Amino acid sequence: MQKAYQAFSDYLKEKHGEKVYKITIDAGFSCPNRDGTISKGGCIFCDDSGSFSKAHSSELDIKNQVITGINTLNSRFGAKKFLAYFQAFTNTYAPVDKLKKIYDSAFCDERILGISIGTRPDCIDEKKLDLISGYKNPWLELGLQSTHNETLKKINRGHNYECFLEAYKLAKEKGIKVCVHMVLGLEGENREMMLESAKRLARLNIDGIKLHMLTVLEDAPIARLYKEKPFQLLDMRQYCELVCDFLELLPANTTIHRLAGSGYSKTLIAPKWINNKFETLNLIDEIFKQRKTKQGAKFYPECAN
Ligand code: SF4
Repeated sequence: MQKAYQAFSDYLKEKHGEKVYKITIDAGFSCPNRDGTISKGGCIFCDDSGSFSKAHSSELDIKNQVITGINTLNSRFGAKKFLAYFQAFTNTYAPVDKLKKIYDSAFCDERILGISIGTRPDCIDEKKLDLISGYKNPWLELGLQSTHNETLKKINRGHNYECFLEAYKLAKEKGIKVCVHMVLGLEGENREMMLESAKRLARLNIDGIKLHMLTVLEDAPIARLYKEKPFQLLDMRQYCELVCDFLELLPANTTIHRLAGSGYSKTLIAPKWINNKFETLNLIDEIFKQRKTKQGAKFYPECAN
């Protein structure tokens, strides 16, 4: 069935002639929002894994993480093409010469077609972007979470929207594709605010987006707030309705890298539905079908502000 949105997996399949699999890497980086440089607390939803999905042991060196990822995906799915995804913590948080060694080591197999680097907007500069732009098929995954400065302050992001805009502009000038990470359901954000974020990103014509539901994990600062005074989290239908609202506002060609996940750790406190990835994706499909709309249905560049 044709999706109502431009899934990143379909985009890659079309570009490379077959399915491309992402290999997640933990290169041992830290984050300035956790090590005391900006703050010690981190973003309120961030736990000790720094968003690493832990597909394999992060104790392996990078080359071995890549080889293990290739072998596992090859034997399980017959996978032949891969992207190296530096996922855990802030993957540009080191001097350029060190970054070069780290990124180079991911290209240890000719089946690695490109690189994807997750980071914060305040941890990149021209030299780092020059380095990244020199690799095959480079993507930068920029954490933003909200375009509203009052929210960014509340969630302790340690940077503002203007900082993101500068980083985004610089990355685009270097020819790097940018995927933006956003969180839906942040405390204090109503539907209008979230859709305002969608319109702002639509106006920027971003290359890709990952949407996350706000999640309460045991080791994250938000857990304490939630236990002290439990607040309302979106239920699955509310989240899926918002996802559809959001995607309708984006241009039809923005690639959708993520809408739902699974495998949340045993430290998950709420919402419990978050692990039902396929049910969530099916509901998004169903809502689009009921609405008879799709990604881009409400994208009007002139109205995007
Ligand atoms: S920037 Fe990323 S790694 Fe750092 S505290 Fe926030 S979510 Fe965690």
